[in-house]
Amino acid sequence: MTITTRFAPSPTGYLHVGGARTALFSWAFARKHGGKFILRIEDTDLERSTQESVDAILQGMTWLGLEYDEGPFYQTQRFDRYREVIQQLLTQGDAYYCYCSKEELEQLRAEQMVNKEKPRYNGLCRDGAQVIEGRKPVIRFKNPVDGVVTIPDLVKGEIAVANKELDDLIIARADGTPTYNLTVVVDDMDMGVTHVIRGDDHINNTPRQMNILKALGAELPKYAHLPMILGADGARLSKRHGAVSVMQFRDDGYLPEALLNYLVRLGWSHGDQEVFSIDEMVGYFELEDVNVSASTFNMEKLLWLNHQYIMNSDPAHVARHLSWHIGQLGIDPADGPTLIDVVKAQRERSKTLVEMANASVYFYKEFDMYDEKAAKKNFTMGSDIVLARLYDEFVAVDDWQDEALHHIVVNLAEDMALNLGKVAQPLRVAVCGSAVSPAIDVTLALLGKEKTLSRIQRAIDYSRSLNLVGLSG
Ligand code: GLU
Repeated sequence: MTITTRFAPSPTGYLHVGGARTALFSWAFARKHGGKFILRIEDTDLERSTQESVDAILQGMTWLGLEYDEGPFYQTQRFDRYREVIQQLLTQGDAYYCYCSKEELEQLRAEQMVNKEKPRYNGLCRDGAQVIEGRKPVIRFKNPVDGVVTIPDLVKGEIAVANKELDDLIIARADGTPTYNLTVVVDDMDMGVTHVIRGDDHINNTPRQMNILKALGAELPKYAHLPMILGADGARLSKRHGAVSVMQFRDDGYLPEALLNYLVRLGWSHGDQEVFSIDEMVGYFELEDVNVSASTFNMEKLLWLNHQYIMNSDPAHVARHLSWHIGQLGIDPADGPTLIDVVKAQRERSKTLVEMANASVYFYKEFDMYDEKAAKKNFTMGSDIVLARLYDEFVAVDDWQDEALHHIVVNLAEDMALNLGKVAQPLRVAVCGSAVSPAIDVTLALLGKEKTLSRIQRAIDYSRSLNLVGLSG
């Protein structure tokens, strides 16, 4: 039997990181066992489902690299099949028409509340409904009244639920459309799902779904209900805690592997290892190691991991992702150094790709202004002389490499009896506009000779225009 898992999001918003973690666990489990991973879009709620959200889910899955072997299947394309199964349940006596009106059910519920009973359907139509002309019936599943359903939950252990706790749930609405519990069951059955891995907010549905599966003579899958993800304040993770949409993390400069690594550790562990390659995630993944209790989302830790991935991944890979951010800034990477070299120069100091992109703009584009503080501090009396000497030295360099540039800067400092900072810092502000950049020789090498010279000239002019020296020319 092929191990088969599925990710079954409802397309009613962005792809939430909680959903992404469910997808990741389902994917990793299938991969680990050489099985199959299915993507199913549960779009039967026509009012809340949107194409935009479907696109966001597909985009998120692609960005994360969670490849599915089958799908996406759309439930809205399977209505005929659901009707067929509903008919089968009716025929074999496991479902029935219910003519109880909304008002009657509301009244029933109100009475149950008054009597401090659990609100549930009282089974009035279960053994032969009274047909009411002009009223369209719903269809209910005839849940067994006796016995116990035991959920074989691989995370929480076995969970037993008495059938008398479960009422006869509606499987088709009055307009004939199937409800969530019915569609999930039919799909899991038809798609041969062996392991249902999903959030534990679905745990109440599971015994009901198991009963319907049994009625259909289907083999029961195993279940793994994943504990919730909470924000720092202990409430369920939501927008008000910050970024929660997968694509927002892309926009904020995270690498997909860093997010996956963070998510795999959120509620799962393998000893005390923190950093996992994708192969390790898959290789070590066991549902038994998923935590039973909820986990708290920690942005600081994700940021730390992202930095680890930026520093230690293949620079060509990081550069591919950086390229998107550079594009967002309206920069054409052809106007400057290769992005791979930028990654190598900037990765130590960049925790996100947004930081890296923003800190690299000057390689490609002329900056408008000097950072005020940096200019004030470094364009001081005599700095134009230093810059002018650097200019003369640099003009003569044919092989524009960091080593040669390094020597020039060091030798000039020595020659002028200045400490290195007095040479390197004005130079840095001259070429970058600010006092922060990678090592000065690396910065100049990346910038290229032409831009370096024109920016030094600009800084000389600027220093002189401040009338700081005026004596040197
Ligand atoms: N469509 C459901 C949701 O988005 C998931 C159903 C399931 O995994 O069984 O919450």
